[in-house]
Amino acid sequence: FFTRNLEHEAKEAHQLENDLRVSLVSNHVELHKAISNNEFKLMYQPIVDVASDTVHAVEALVRWNHPKRGLISPADFIPMAEQIQVMDVLGNWIIRRACSDALTLPTNSDGSHVGVSINISATQFIESEILVSTVKQALEETNIEPQLVKLEITESAAFGSEKIRTIDALRKLGCKTALDDFGTGYSSLTQLNTIPLDYIKLDRSFIAALGGEDQLKDQRSDRITRAVLSIAQTFNLLPVVEGVETSTQCKRLRDYGATLIQGYLFSKPLELDETRKFIENFGKKAQVKGVEHA
Ligand code: C2E
Ligand code: MG
Ligand code: MG
Ligand code: MG
Repeated sequence: FFTRNLEHEAKEAHQLENDLRVSLVSNHVELHKAISNNEFKLMYQPIVDVASDTVHAVEALVRWNHPKRGLISPADFIPMAEQIQVMDVLGNWIIRRACSDALTLPTNSDGSHVGVSINISATQFIESEILVSTVKQALEETNIEPQLVKLEITESAAFGSEKIRTIDALRKLGCKTALDDFGTGYSSLTQLNTIPLDYIKLDRSFIAALGGEDQLKDQRSDRITRAVLSIAQTFNLLPVVEGVETSTQCKRLRDYGATLIQGYLFSKPLELDETRKFIENFGKKAQVKGVEHA
């Protein structure tokens, strides 16, 4: 009885392993196919400046528009794309598309242009010349003002001198740079001192408990948020706060001097045409508010 049961279990484990391997392989094949079929699309999430009532920028967030499975989130395919070394190809498409989409955005009611924030994967830094030349080409082709292009870098990868040279080269093109998910990875204050940066994006986890029911968690969240904002100020970096979901959080952040806010409070990631509408409506609301204040 035991032997048979063990045999059965071993067989089942083997089957499962096989299934996993098969599905992994077919996913690889699918991902390669998706790249050549151009099955990806970008959505945009507004980053609002609550001090000037303008949309500072929109963050480009990629989705895999799978023919059978519908929209697949980046968390579910970017690690694989990196693993099978197609992230540079996909990343290049993302950079060019985001820049050309950004040109179609309306201006804010005060005449200022809306920027576009683009996530750059750590693996795109491996072929650093390709990354720099892709960005350069995208700038030239679209004629977008370079400072409107913000490149988001995650802190999860090591910042060697080679990577810092690449970031420098990107900034020499006129682009701005942002350290994404600040506080979750490997960042140290030394890095903030050495990486040429314009923005730091405070990770959602910092402020998740801010203004929530749990007073102890609220206090802790409040303390760390203020500390990080003061670090940003010390290093002369513009803080962008991610994952702001409530007006209590927004008010509190504003009190602490953070005015660049991104999160569901203002909007989820939107289709391009919805993004244009969002900017237009945001401008109209700002004008009404301006009249009220006058
Ligand atoms: P990220 O760059 O930190 O992007 C912010 C993520 O937080 C987005 O998830 C966004 O939808 C989500 N988010 C924004 N506001 C809120 C909020 O108020 N509450 C909650 N719960 N979530 C919020 P998304 O689009 O699923 O992207 C996940 C991650 O995938 C991104 O994190 C980024 O690391 C990566 N990613 C997305 N697009 C790209 C891309 O084009 N290239 C690369 N290399 N990575 C990308
Ligand atoms: Mg990002
Ligand atoms: Mg982020
Ligand atoms: Mg994040």
